[in-house]
Amino acid sequence: MDLNYSPEDVAYRKQVRTWLERNLPFSPPRTLEERKVWHRKLYEGGFLGMGWPKEYGGQGARPMEQAIVADEMAHAAAPAPTNGLGLGIVGPTIVVHGNEWQKKRYLRKILTAEEMWCQLYSEPNSGSDLASLKTSAEDKGDHFMVNGQKIWTSGGKVADWGLLLARTDPKVPKHKGITCFLMSMRQPGVEVRPLKQITGSAEFCEVFMTNARVEKENQIGKLGEGWAIANTTLGYERGGRSLARISGYAAQYHRLVGAAKKLMRNGRPLMESPTVRQRLGKIWADLEVERYNALRVLTQLEKGEHPGAGGSLTKLSYSEFEKRFMEVAQEILGPYGQLTDGAPAELALEIDTAVGEMGTWAYGFLWSRAGTIYAGSSEIQKNVIGERILGLPKESRADRGGAR
Ligand SMILES: Cc1cc2nc3c(=O)[nH]c(=O)nc-3n(C[C@H](O)[C@H](O)[C@H](O)COP(=O)(O)OP(=O)(O)OC[C@H]3O[C@@H](n4cnc5c(N)ncnc54)[C@H](O)[C@@H]3O)c2cc1C
Repeated sequence: MDLNYSPEDVAYRKQVRTWLERNLPFSPPRTLEERKVWHRKLYEGGFLGMGWPKEYGGQGARPMEQAIVADEMAHAAAPAPTNGLGLGIVGPTIVVHGNEWQKKRYLRKILTAEEMWCQLYSEPNSGSDLASLKTSAEDKGDHFMVNGQKIWTSGGKVADWGLLLARTDPKVPKHKGITCFLMSMRQPGVEVRPLKQITGSAEFCEVFMTNARVEKENQIGKLGEGWAIANTTLGYERGGRSLARISGYAAQYHRLVGAAKKLMRNGRPLMESPTVRQRLGKIWADLEVERYNALRVLTQLEKGEHPGAGGSLTKLSYSEFEKRFMEVAQEILGPYGQLTDGAPAELALEIDTAVGEMGTWAYGFLWSRAGTIYAGSSEIQKNVIGERILGLPKESRADRGGAR
């Protein structure tokens, strides 16, 4: 693991910091259109699709440069770009598995947010056991006809396109009959219904497909090889953005320490309580462990290695940490932690919730439950770590035959 920044990295960091100081919006973008404007500014600054090849609109930058940008954005509390699933999941999948036409057709429009994307994987009865999915794609000669239902589709209501997993062969073992497609969400056969979450937002959706159409040119990879492609996607979801996440937590931690100095109990600042200091000290120690974990992933990426199953270690570790951190924040803040509006400035949390609102500690606490579920729950990450990293015996499975 390399813990030092080269002189070029230090100079690049300075350049990014200066750009952010000059270009940060005065007030956080709230509407989708305002978010797209900020997104495009980031793209024009050279800060999106940094690892993607230059010929498709990317920057061909090193993982360290990408980490520096993400880190500086977290320090500056810069709003996230929109089209997160396009940038984080769909684009990298097309870069690795797409053909030349697909790369030229789709990648640049993800970077400019001209086309918004969602991920159509989970179904009502297929989440952890994703390979059991039932949505079908039937070969109709010049196109595929899609029927079925997806759920928990983040950003479904604003998406123009979806990265779809569908079953093309029900007779073979379930992992082998799945194919990956790019599907237009703007067609009569696709109905999107938003779902309200405990946070109060509704970025989740149910998606119903009835005789929806996917053109043949929009099949990614070979027929029946969708499972391997899905695993690349999940690797990106589990391993990526680690250092930025840590910088984000650190910024929130410093706000929490600030609040503990302001809040009084029995006439003395809460920060003087040995219990509060102990809790905060433990969180800081855990955060340092997370930072070294993130640096380990970054070192792997710099060497051109894909974290693979190692992404599960990072994902399990940061998502469980986030829950512990937000619980401690609630204990320290008491009723102030539950306010969704109107908290005194020095006790409020200013985080970008990526849904067009600035976050509160209450939002952060509720949202922290999500990390241990999406992109594979903590239990599933433990299975991956046990089977693929530690080489423990595989879980017994009664479903190794055909999918239906
Ligand atoms: C914030 C958020 C955003 C999401 N965005 C998307 C999206 O954009 N697109 C998309 O397709 N999906 C999305 N999802 C769905 C997500 O991938 C699933 O929720 C997740 O895979 C778990 O599936 P499930 O909800 O069906 O739970 P289940 O699979 O039913 O699991 C229920 C419980 O059983 C446990 N469990 C299940 N199997 C095992 C096992 N073999 N061993 C041990 N324990 C097990 C699980 O850990 C969990 O605690 C999102 C979810 C969240 C929370």
